Amino acid sequence: MDSVETYLADILAAIRPLPPRELALGDALGAVLTDDVTARQPQPPFDNSSMDGYAVRTADVATASEAHPVLLRVAGEIAAGDTGRYDLVPGTVFAIMTGAPMPAGADAVVPVGQTDGGSERVAIAQPVGAGSFVRAAGSDARPGDLLLPAGTRLGAVHLGLLAAAGHATVVARPRPRITVISTGNELVDHGGDLIPGQIWESNATMLAAAAREAGCAARRYPIVRDTTDALLAAVTDALDSADVLVTTGGVSMGGEHDVVKAALGTLGTVTFRKVAMQPGMPQGFGTVGPAETPIFTLPGNPVSAYVSFCLFVRPALDALQDYFGERPKPQQAVLAGPVRSPAGRRSYLRGILDVPAGLVTPVTGQASHQLASLARANALAIVPEQVTSLEAGETVDVLELP
Ligand code: AMP
Ligand code: MG
Repeated sequence: MDSVETYLADILAAIRPLPPRELALGDALGAVLTDDVTARQPQPPFDNSSMDGYAVRTADVATASEAHPVLLRVAGEIAAGDTGRYDLVPGTVFAIMTGAPMPAGADAVVPVGQTDGGSERVAIAQPVGAGSFVRAAGSDARPGDLLLPAGTRLGAVHLGLLAAAGHATVVARPRPRITVISTGNELVDHGGDLIPGQIWESNATMLAAAAREAGCAARRYPIVRDTTDALLAAVTDALDSADVLVTTGGVSMGGEHDVVKAALGTLGTVTFRKVAMQPGMPQGFGTVGPAETPIFTLPGNPVSAYVSFCLFVRPALDALQDYFGERPKPQQAVLAGPVRSPAGRRSYLRGILDVPAGLVTPVTGQASHQLASLARANALAIVPEQVTSLEAGETVDVLELP
């Protein structure tokens, strides 16, 4: 049996990052920058008002007070989007709106609330400092400033910044496209009727969603029946539009119904291995097709499939984008109840983690088909290979679930 670490290292060694592409901003959510992005223009591009008010010369309002307000003529109004050129004549003001360009000669804005709001003439009852309520050109970024460093995974704010800085496209490694194929003669699409012997399919629904949560574009392939031909046809078909394939089921430790094993054993570089863990011992990984697309053959039991996804597929998705940002790290917690674990295998036990209390309570129902107990859990408590039981009060490593 391989250790979890050995198996993961072998997977990561086989992953080649997706090539960077020029992406429209609308397609770039989750993409990872390969180069620094710097500002090409000052941001904001021109001096503008941060308030609705009056653009003034500070010298004209220097003597203003409640007792002796300064009365100034309003020479006109400048709204956001006004591209005209305005010169402020000493002794006058312009009414100005938020985001409107400052007229030449004005060096401050008096907010409308500090005036009588006049439209012909305005009374200003207090002085204002130079630059007040003016957003200076380049005050957010100057040309050449670093906006986003290489390695950034683009989120909403990053895309907003790129748009604000005038970029229509960005060069980045795109979100991986993942297709999840579930196999099994017993599986029925959710919504369909069951007859005895059948169950509703859950793995592909769950893992496609988990991949989306991880920032991928994910697709659930129609359920594949347990024949070699059907599986090979599905894999070949899915290859065209996927950067990663995931299958579930059909990789148990024997039996002629283990169709994934039978079919993929002859295709590409897929190897099937036992990993010293529970749940999720039978694993398979390799590459298939002309583009050497990585394929994971995960076990069929839903909890095994999900834990395998978290431990092996998730890091591989990051590696496809050459992304080594924040990775969930195990933390320590005290067990609230006793646990058991098979000798020689690392257990990932479902638990409810109370972070402030530093306490993890194992849930009842740790079998691999018990998805309801996984839904109740928010963490996996990790029991090392050589440990077969732990008592309440002992400390364990805990992985928080997304
Ligand atoms: P297998 O590895 O194909 O023998 O499947 C192991 C167990 O997982 C069996 O009880 C299957 O019915 C179940 N299983 C396999 N695939 C799925 C799926 N996509 N959704 C729900 N249960 C599944
Ligand atoms: Mg099966």
